[in-house]
Amino acid sequence: MNWNLLAEHVLAGHELSDEEGLAILESEDDQILELLHSAYQIRKHYYGNKVKLNMIVNTKSGFCPENCGYCAQSIDSEAPIQKYRMMDKDTIVQGAEQAHRLQSGTYCIVASGRGPTNRELNEVTAAVQEIKAKYDMKVCACLGLLRPEQADKLKEAGVDRYNHNINTSKNHHDAITTTHTYDDRVETVNYAKQAGISPCSGVIVGMKESRLDVVHMAKALKELDADSIPVNFLHAIDGTALEGTNELTPMYCLKVLALFRFINPAKEIRVSGGREVNLRSLQPLGLYAANSIFVGDYLTTAGQEGTKDHQMLKDLGFEIEYPTPQPLAE
Ligand code: SF4
Repeated sequence: MNWNLLAEHVLAGHELSDEEGLAILESEDDQILELLHSAYQIRKHYYGNKVKLNMIVNTKSGFCPENCGYCAQSIDSEAPIQKYRMMDKDTIVQGAEQAHRLQSGTYCIVASGRGPTNRELNEVTAAVQEIKAKYDMKVCACLGLLRPEQADKLKEAGVDRYNHNINTSKNHHDAITTTHTYDDRVETVNYAKQAGISPCSGVIVGMKESRLDVVHMAKALKELDADSIPVNFLHAIDGTALEGTNELTPMYCLKVLALFRFINPAKEIRVSGGREVNLRSLQPLGLYAANSIFVGDYLTTAGQEGTKDHQMLKDLGFEIEYPTPQPLAE
């Protein structure tokens, strides 16, 4: 396959077939630089050398009645994580200060659970109003399944983006979770869109899905028109249903990121959870396809230090996209 030509076609509006998607995932490892170069032509067309940073605060940990097989916060998980109830407004606002220091353009307020209670929603909306008044940053909420009126309330408070991942393909969904459906997840993304909130929805790769499932996930997100697409790579946690699953290689992760760029050329593609453990020494190469990363910690696992991420971006010659440009960490 001529990857450069395919990238030119994508820039001219071509949509990848399943066969072309599979060809990316099944390409030989010695083609990786050509593949990434082509993905980078698309990424550069839309985003130049800019990288967006996102920082997560886990405002409520554990106690979730759902049974997502990858999640340490599920009721079925025996992982020894720290569990706590919803943070108060002031603690959530304090997290935004750290996001600001890390030049994170988006602050992601996340809570475990099937969906938010009224009290939890009130705590989040009060925090969002204060954060938006204080900082020039985008706020993303990730609170589980929403009802339409809850999406409206988040919009009114100033939430810019709502994250709800499809996680996997429709075909593979029931092998991962049975307490809610794939369509429930899609419905919540659509409620956010209907409320006027920018939709963020992504995937977790490495959960025993087929390669065709991965192609279909990327296409499903195109159809959903997700503005922001977090691509997580499974970091299997002991005590979860997927404990011991370890089927990813750094090269395969790079091919997945290239695939998502080819299928969703103009969208924000974020190398997300599991970046450090799955891409390992090849992390910097991921940014030739993706244009966004998380800084700080993930929900129940630690990320690498923010200064290391800043250094990586500087070494690559990339610039942080932040409302108020600041010098990178020396
Ligand atoms: S992913 Fe979310 S809904 Fe699923 S078990 Fe974890 S916290 Fe609950």
